[in-house]
Amino acid sequence: MDAGKNLRRAIVQKELSLNFQPQFSLAGAIIGVEALIRWNHPALGMISPTDFIPIAEDTGLIVSIGNWIMQTVCNHIKEWEHHNVFIPHISINISPRQFHQADFVSVVTKIITGNHVNPVRILLEITEGVFLKSIDEAIDKVNALKQRGFLFSIDDFGTGYSSLTYLKRLPFDQLKIDQSFIRDVIDDPSNAAIVKAIIGMAEGLGLDLIAEGVETRRQLDFLSDYGCRYFQGYYFSKPLSSDQFEAYFINHNGNSALSKEYVIL
Ligand code: C2E
Ligand code: MG
Ligand code: MG
Repeated sequence: MDAGKNLRRAIVQKELSLNFQPQFSLAGAIIGVEALIRWNHPALGMISPTDFIPIAEDTGLIVSIGNWIMQTVCNHIKEWEHHNVFIPHISINISPRQFHQADFVSVVTKIITGNHVNPVRILLEITEGVFLKSIDEAIDKVNALKQRGFLFSIDDFGTGYSSLTYLKRLPFDQLKIDQSFIRDVIDDPSNAAIVKAIIGMAEGLGLDLIAEGVETRRQLDFLSDYGCRYFQGYYFSKPLSSDQFEAYFINHNGNSALSKEYVIL
């Protein structure tokens, strides 16, 4: 059976699920969570999204998978709220092919608002590659969704074919420094210099900055010393199932009325 057929079956047979990795402020509060897809194959076990997302892109299946992800995120939000757990922000990864669909703006809006989720709680993560195809098309789509309240983050920042022009032209809310820079930030002076430059640039442009792949206390100290305020990584928590995440959040932030306040990044 080819990979595309396998993946089609995975959708039908409900082998896909979402994990959730919390994101933290410097003060240690959970400010959001990133949804990360998992494929539990009946024979092969867990397959990494880095292996199957490219297949989903090539076959076009990413469009239905992407819609499934958004709907499933909404279902989890409703379930958490039912238990009085209110997560300020939920980040959703958007793949380039999904973003380039002609009806992307209306589909995203329909799923999120159709489920009565306020778009200001949704951070759409896109990568720099999205701007390669047509920067004007990308700008129009980002602006249209921003007008509806959605927030945008640039994932894996620093690894793409960045033209810094788009940073100026697009109203992003967040930059996510790629984990490859964080991994060696302590031992590799060039990575340290890049991280410092990205932090300075984000500050200058008024963008919020989050570091992903933070695994050690030393990395966290380095990042916070240079002005990074938001973090995600194994040092804090691995990605968790929806139930595990809910328990983790209650234990950490509490499910008091306080956590119902929007924490705008
Ligand atoms: P990403 O969006 O940059 O996600 C971050 C990846 O780093 C995740 O891998 C996460 O589990 C992992 N990670 C988090 N903290 C640490 C850490 O401290 N150390 C290390 N070594 N890794 C850490 P994952 O879940 O395997 O996802 C890999 C990539 O697959 C994602 O990179 C994203 O590009 C794609 N992906 C995952 N879920 C989705 C999805 O729902 N939709 C789409 N379109 N792509 C997805
Ligand atoms: Mg991401
Ligand atoms: Mg990333």
